[in-house]
Amino acid sequence: MDKNQIKKLCLEEIEKNKELIINAGKKIYENPELGYKEVKSTKIVADFFKDMGLDVEDNIAVTGCKVSVNKDITGPKIAVMGELDSIVCHEHKDSNEIGNIHGCGHNIQVAGMLGTALGLIKSNALKWLSGKVDFIAVPAEECIDLEYRQGLKEKGEIKFFGGKQELLYRGLLDDVDMAMMFHTINLDNDKKCIVKSYTNGFISKRITFKGVSSHAGAAPHEGINALNAATLAINNINAQRETFKDEDKVRVSAIITHGGDIVNVVPSNVKMEAMVRAATVEAMIDANKKVNRALQCGAMAVGADVIIEDCIGYLPMDSDKNMDSIFRNNILELIDGEEDNIIDVVREAGSTDFGDLSQIIPCLHPWIGGVSGSLHTKDYSISNDEIAYLLPAKAIAITVIDLLFDNAKLAGKVISDFEPNLTKDDYLKFMDENTKTYKYDFTDMI
Ligand SMILES: [Zn+2]
Ligand SMILES: [Zn+2]
Repeated sequence: MDKNQIKKLCLEEIEKNKELIINAGKKIYENPELGYKEVKSTKIVADFFKDMGLDVEDNIAVTGCKVSVNKDITGPKIAVMGELDSIVCHEHKDSNEIGNIHGCGHNIQVAGMLGTALGLIKSNALKWLSGKVDFIAVPAEECIDLEYRQGLKEKGEIKFFGGKQELLYRGLLDDVDMAMMFHTINLDNDKKCIVKSYTNGFISKRITFKGVSSHAGAAPHEGINALNAATLAINNINAQRETFKDEDKVRVSAIITHGGDIVNVVPSNVKMEAMVRAATVEAMIDANKKVNRALQCGAMAVGADVIIEDCIGYLPMDSDKNMDSIFRNNILELIDGEEDNIIDVVREAGSTDFGDLSQIIPCLHPWIGGVSGSLHTKDYSISNDEIAYLLPAKAIAITVIDLLFDNAKLAGKVISDFEPNLTKDDYLKFMDENTKTYKYDFTDMI
């Protein structure tokens, strides 16, 4: 069959079932759950798939589920993903009793993923494609609620805070050649889509300076002032800033979370938190080394101890240029060629664990409009169901068709042109190496 005919049938199927798709998104919206707790949301997705007569693999990473289609077909495998977790924003009018709300539009992504699945499956488009597709409802994208996740880590139930990181670690993406998903964002002036986006990666840091307490009035000379170590360290960090290149979008944030106990005792225990973000892995590691040097020198100057607990968060995202351009053509067709309503590139300073995947396999991550208010705030809401839910479902479905039609010629080009930054093994090693506690003792320098 002609490719355009297959695409047409797929789009018709999505259009015919639009109420069903939008309702799935609304149901998830009404049941917001935080990462690795998405029990109801997983069930909503699994039931949707089961109603289509599909086999569902449940609780793939604590929560989440997956459906594989065209399993026996030879050819590349594409993963189409939707994230399940909500954020917390008590001020949002639709937040539940514990403040959970889909303020990042993940309910829209999941419904979009279901729409893509429905279109491809019900139209029989898959029959004409030379490759496999996994539809994955992924847990835990937002890096929040960390105490709970730390508990899961300690119980051995997860290795990573991020759901996609966990899927990678568990081998669920080992046979996946490329991945696709979208976020929704408030785009001004009727814009419908940002095709390509870069996001920053980050390392979270907890820092403890240990000194010696003494009477601040009577015997400050007998103490080692941990607060002085911390303030020197912050100044040292500030002295690094001119070395960060503009294009690396380095952000170093540091706060003192405990500055001492009482004012007439020289502080002996001071705690800080810091975050190092950057647009490339290299820049992130470079900036983090400088920050660690700055922290050590603060401690060294006063002869204190410093403990630095580094935890690597998410890696920077860079979507694949071939996938971007196939998607761009498709979305343009769906919005009647309105070039002005497409934004080609945006560099975001925020982060997502989809970035981790983009270091290893080709990834597509557009931002779609149809929502108002800023992400993660009380004002975030859907303003246009058709754009938010259906446009990405359709655009991604026909992008899958483009990639896998004609002996998966375009998918083959995506794979052969892609130069990974990391292999999976390198990635896991890198994550381990950069989640580490450093202890420096300078008390003997006194
Ligand atoms: Zn978010
Ligand atoms: Zn998100």
